[in-house]
Parts: sequence; C-alpha cells; structure tokens
Amino acid sequence: MCRLKIDVMGVLFDNVTMEQAVERAAGLIGEHRGAYCVTPNAEIAWEAMQDEGFRAIINGADLVLPDGAGVVLGAKILERPLQGKVAGIDFADRLAGYLADKGGSLYLLGSKPGIAELAGENLVKKHPGLKICGTADGYFQDEASVVEKINETKPDVLFVCLGAPKQERFMAAHKEELNVGLMIGLGGSLDGFAGTVKRAPKWMIRCNLEWLYRLIKEPRRLGRMMRLPKFVRACKKQRRREGKRHG
Ligand code: UDP
Repeated sequence: MCRLKIDVMGVLFDNVTMEQAVERAAGLIGEHRGAYCVTPNAEIAWEAMQDEGFRAIINGADLVLPDGAGVVLGAKILERPLQGKVAGIDFADRLAGYLADKGGSLYLLGSKPGIAELAGENLVKKHPGLKICGTADGYFQDEASVVEKINETKPDVLFVCLGAPKQERFMAAHKEELNVGLMIGLGGSLDGFAGTVKRAPKWMIRCNLEWLYRLIKEPRRLGRMMRLPKFVRACKKQRRREGKRHG
C-alpha cells in the first residue's frame, strides 16, 4: 500500500485512495489504541498554515485524509500530486459499512441535540447490523464526563463532529484516556447523515462544485470559504519559490 506522506503547505497528507484509507482504518481499529484520523479540506489546511499548534495536532494524526478538491489542487500545483480526494463523509459511510459487516460498534458525538440519534437511525437503515453504542450532542461544557460516557461503551469507532479545530483538539487532548479503536474528525457529517443538511447533487460533487452548493445554501460561510483562494495562491507562490531553488 502507498504509505507516502505528501506535504501540502506543511500539512502531511496520506496519499491514499478511499480503498486504502478504509484498509488502513481497519488496521487501526484492530489495534484499539485510541488512534485518530483527521480530514482537512483547504480551509482547514489554511488554518493549519497559520497556527503551528493546530498543524502539529493534524500532523500527529494516524491518518490524514485529503477532504476536498482544494487540497488535491494544491498538491497538483506543488507538483506532488495526491491520488485523489477522500471526502470525510464518504469515508465515514464506508467505515459504517465495514463495522456493520464485522459486528463493530460506533459512537456518534457532535452536532445539535437530537441530530446524532437521527444520523444513527439513518446509518443503521443503510447498513443493517451496524451497532450504534452511544450518541451525544456537541454542545457540552464538561469534556471529562463526555470521555467517561464514551469509555463506558468502548466503541470501535468514534465519529467526532464538533467542527474544526474543536474536534481535532478534542481528539488529541483525550487520545490517551479514550478507550476507542479509531476516532475521526468529521465536521458537519452528522448533519449530512441525519438529512438536516443536504449534500450537493451528484453532478456538482463530480464537477468539484460542492463548495458552491454549500455557499448558496449557507452564505454566512463566505468568509471561511475565502480561505480556499488564499490557500491556492499560497500553493502557487510556494511552487514558484521551489522552482527557483531547483532551477
Ligand atoms: N458543532 C458542535 N459543537 C460545537 C460547534 C459545532 O457539535 O461546539 C457542530 C455543528 O453543529 C455542526 C458541526 O459541528 O454539526 C460543524 O459543522 P461545519 O459544517 O461548520 O463543519 P465543517 O465540516 O465545515 O468543518
């Protein structure tokens, strides 16, 4: 399997296909040592470029998946291409299928009250046999009691859907005490599974226009989305710098 890391503006992505990502996740689940996986898109990569501490948390993950066309484009500009994007929500869906097949358990943490339960019901409908061993919303005050609740169920997989950088900080901070196989930071994925936030039509996803769909649905995201062109510009600048060094 291709285990090479690809450096995209200081963020070290695993150069894996979806199949390879699931295979690697399966290995980590088997080890049951509180591994964590992050799914940075270009906006998050931009954040990581500005914040060394956040970057260290991302690069300290056991699996770093390129969530989105922006990251793939950045890698291409830098002339160290990634095999492709591995969208967090699709990866999560594949893992739910894997757990259903293996009789594994899944804990859903995050989003507004009631959403994780709804997401769980939909996931079980899609993947019969999947065991949802617990759910909790993402608007808690006391992290220790959340950790305790999760540990009572010892899940194989924990979806951590608190938005970035909160979810990445949560996973890194509690990695040692959490009794889980693999945890994954998945942003707004529970809203997606619950059906309260719809994904873009398939043709838009195919044409790499998912960002445009989200912008039309949630115009307040514009500020955050401006990080994408900034990220692309930074990649181009970095490429020129590297070109000069080698040329
Ligand atoms: N969220 C949460 N706790 C918080 C802040 C946010 O559970 O303290 C949830 C929020 O309800 C949403 C998700 O985190 O479901 C963040 O979604 P967003 O689309 O902003 O994340 P992205 O995928 O873009 O990182």
